[in-house]
Amino acid sequence: MFFELSAEQQALRQKAIDFCARECPPDFETSLDQSGVFPGDLYRKMADYGLLGISFPAEYGGTSGDIMDIVLIAEQLAGNSFTAVYMYLVNVVFAGSIILNCGSDSQKKEFLPKLLKGELQFSFALTEPEAGSDARSIKTSAKLQGDRFLINGTKYWTSGATVSDYIITVTITGPQTDSSKAMSIFIVPAGSQGLSITPIPKLAGNAYPSCEVKYRDVSVGQEHILGGPEWLNNGLLQLFRTAEYERICVAASCLGGADTILRECTAFAKNRQQFGKPIIKFQAIQHALADMATQIEAMRWMTYHAAWMKSAGKDCFKEICMAKLFCSETLNDIARKGMQIFGGRGYSMEYRMQRYLRESYLSLYAGGTSEIQKNVIARFL
Ligand SMILES: Cc1cc2nc3c(=O)[nH]c(=O)nc-3n(C[C@H](O)[C@H](O)[C@H](O)COP(=O)(O)OP(=O)(O)OC[C@H]3O[C@@H](n4cnc5c(N)ncnc54)[C@H](O)[C@@H]3O)c2cc1C
Repeated sequence: MFFELSAEQQALRQKAIDFCARECPPDFETSLDQSGVFPGDLYRKMADYGLLGISFPAEYGGTSGDIMDIVLIAEQLAGNSFTAVYMYLVNVVFAGSIILNCGSDSQKKEFLPKLLKGELQFSFALTEPEAGSDARSIKTSAKLQGDRFLINGTKYWTSGATVSDYIITVTITGPQTDSSKAMSIFIVPAGSQGLSITPIPKLAGNAYPSCEVKYRDVSVGQEHILGGPEWLNNGLLQLFRTAEYERICVAASCLGGADTILRECTAFAKNRQQFGKPIIKFQAIQHALADMATQIEAMRWMTYHAAWMKSAGKDCFKEICMAKLFCSETLNDIARKGMQIFGGRGYSMEYRMQRYLRESYLSLYAGGTSEIQKNVIARFL
C-alpha cells in the first residue's frame, strides 16, 4: 500500500497551488461574491496554465493523466475559489468527460481541443422544475421533424448557461414507458433560436450563474446527438458513465474547501484574545480544531482512495458515492464549526466564514443529494 503522491502528482498539485496564488488570491472570490460578475478570462487562464487538459489524451491537446490528477486540481481550486472550481467541474469534469467517454469521433475532434484551450465553454442541462433527483421523469422533449429534432421544455439550475457556447441537454426522445431507452443527449449551440436563459438568484456563487433555460422549438440536426445518431435513446447510459467523475470531484472540492476553513480558523484562534489569552488556549476551541483536522484526514483518504480505485479500473461506484456523501456533509459541518470559532465575526460580511458556510451547501445537492447517495450505497449492501 502506498499513501504518497507520486513526484508527478506533487508537481501537478504545486502547479495548481501556484495558479491559485496568482489568479485566485483569497479576496478574489470575495469580490466575485459581492459583484456577482462572471470572471470572463478565468477559464482561459486555467487553460494557459495547463490545468484543463491534464486527464485528456494527447491527440486532443491533453497530457494523458488520470482521475487522481483532476481530483488534485479540483481540491486546490476549491480551496481558493468557488467560482473557479465550479467552472472547472462543469466544463472539464462533466462536459469534457461526457464528450470524451460518449462523444463521436468527430465531436471529440471538434470540441475537446477548443475546450482544453479555454476557447469553448459548456453547460449541462438535466434538472427541470419538476424533475431533480428523479432524473428519469424529465419532460423536455426532442421530436424528429423531417431530418431535424425540435426541442421543447424547461431546464432548471443549468450552471454557466449564460456564459457557455453549448448546452449539453438531456431530452426525452423515446416512449417514457421504458426510461432506460427514452433519453437522448444533444449538444445544443447556446445561440440557437428559441432558447431563453434567465439566471436564478442563489445563496452563493452568483458570479457563475445557474439558470432557467427555456427551449421553444429549438432545432438541432442529428449530428448534435451526443455520440451520433446511433446513440439516440441511449442517453441514460451516457449519464451513468459520467456520474463517477462528477461525484468524486465534488468530494475533492469539499476537501479543498474544508482545508481552507481549518487553516483560517486556526490562524483566527491564535490571534483572537478573550479572557486575556488567545482563544486557541481554550480546550473547547482546541477540540473543535482537532475534530475538524480529523474529519479532513478522513475526507482526504476516502476521496483519494476512491480516485485510486477508479484509475486502477476497479468497480468503485459505491466508494465514490460514500466519498461524495461524507465529504459534502462534513464540509457543511466544518463550515458550521468555523462559524462558531469566529463568534460574531463569522456572521459579519467582512469575514469570509459566512461565505464558506453559504458555499458549502451546494455540495449537498451537486452530483445528487445526500439521500440519493445513501440510496445508491444501500443497494450495494
Ligand atoms: C446551485 C446549483 C447548481 C446546479 N447546477 C446544475 C447544473 O448545472 N445542471 C443540472 O442539471 N442540475 C444542476 N443542479 C441541480 C441539482 O442537481 C439538483 O438540485 C439535485 O439533483 C436535487 O434535485 P432537486 O433540487 O430538484 O431536489 P428534489 O429531487 O426535489 O429533492 C428534494 C428533497 O427530497 C429528497 N429526495 C428526493 N428523492 C428522494 C428519494 N428517492 N429518496 C430519499 N430522498 C429523496 C432529496 O434528497 C431532497 O432532500 C444545481 C443545483 C443547484 C442548487
